[in-house]
Order: sequence, then C-alpha cells, then structure tokens
Amino acid sequence: VSSLLTRCRTFKVLVIGDSGVGKTCLTHRLCAGEFPGRVEATIGVDFRERVLDVDGEKIKLQLWDTAGQERFRKSMVQHYYRNVHAVLFIYDVSSPASFSGLTSWIEECRQNSLGQGIPRFLVGNKSDLRDHHRTDGQVSQEQAMSFAKAHGMMFFETSAKNPPSKCASGRRGDGEVPYQQ
Ligand code: GDP
Ligand code: MG
Repeated sequence: VSSLLTRCRTFKVLVIGDSGVGKTCLTHRLCAGEFPGRVEATIGVDFRERVLDVDGEKIKLQLWDTAGQERFRKSMVQHYYRNVHAVLFIYDVSSPASFSGLTSWIEECRQNSLGQGIPRFLVGNKSDLRDHHRTDGQVSQEQAMSFAKAHGMMFFETSAKNPPSKCASGRRGDGEVPYQQ
C-alpha cells in the first residue's frame, strides 16, 4: 500500500452508504477532527480533503461524500467512479436496514467496474449507540465480519460522535479491527 501511496499524491476515497448512516459526519470527523454541530443533508456529491504525512511524504486524502437517498444521474456516476483508490461502505450498527442496503451499493460499484481490485472497507458507524444488552435491531459484529469476508473487505466499527479510542467504556474490542484479510 505504501508504494501506491507515494505514487499517488491524491488518494480518492469513496464514502458510500444509505442516507443517515453518518457519511457526512465521518468525513467531517476525519477532515476537521470533530463531530459537526449540525449537518445539512448532502446534495449530490461533496468532498473533503485531509493532508496526511505518510513516511515523510505528503498525501492528500480526498473523501467523496454522497447523497445516499438517490442513485446518481448517469453523467455524475462516471465522474464519481473514476480513478478511485479505496471505498468505504458505511452502515449504521443500530440500523439493520442500512446494513441490508449495502448490497445495492456493492452492486452499483460492480456495475461501474469498481471491483475487488481496490481496497474496500466495511465500516459500522454509530458504535456509540450499540446496546450490549440486546441483539435485536442491531447489526452484530459477527454478521458484519462474515459479510466483509464474503465480499473481500476489511471491517471495523467506529463512531463519528465518540470515536472508540476515546470511549470511556474500556471494553475490549472497541477500536480494534475484528477482521482483516
Ligand atoms: P449521511 O446521510 O450518511 O451523510 O449522515 P449524516 O452524517 O448526515 O448523519 C445522520 C445523522 O446521524 C445525524 O443526525 C448525525 O448527528 C448522526 N450521526 C452521525 N454519526 C453518528 C455517530 O457516530 N453516532 C451517533 N450517535 N450519531 C451519529
Ligand atoms: Mg450526508
């Protein structure tokens, strides 16, 4: 991966998933270092950038945030799916519907020739909302791990609101990568 990073100064990452899963909050957290006080519903495509230092080399991470409620018009699609370096498939751990919704996003990526060749990540957001005393109405880590494995993705859970590393719970497993290829 690092040789790929040094060759590509700008690293285009798609942030994909249903509306409301937290795509805009996550990109804001990554690029501005905080949970936004207020977010507008994303219209069309929006992107944020963050410059990272990777082995002394400046790398621009360009996160492409999208409106999840509708598929793009044909003209937009081609621009969006061009020269992609990685994809983040986001769902909300407290919304099984958002997890099921990923299937159609994966299919759309496939139709636009974004296959298994590029790094893809399954990201369960809103881990701060996980209720450890119940299982219904939530997406389990086991479920997500097997989905990630079936689709050749890396998987982790996070929270744009309370990132796991800052969680007070101290629960083992928070912030760790439960499954990696
Ligand atoms: P998008 O439609 O995928 O861009 O989702 P947004 O980023 O607009 O977030 C949708 C809603 O979820 C907003 O009310 C956010 O405040 C909330 N939200 C986003 N991320 C988190 C999170 O990690 N934890 C919690 N509890 N709420 C979140
Ligand atoms: Mg949004």
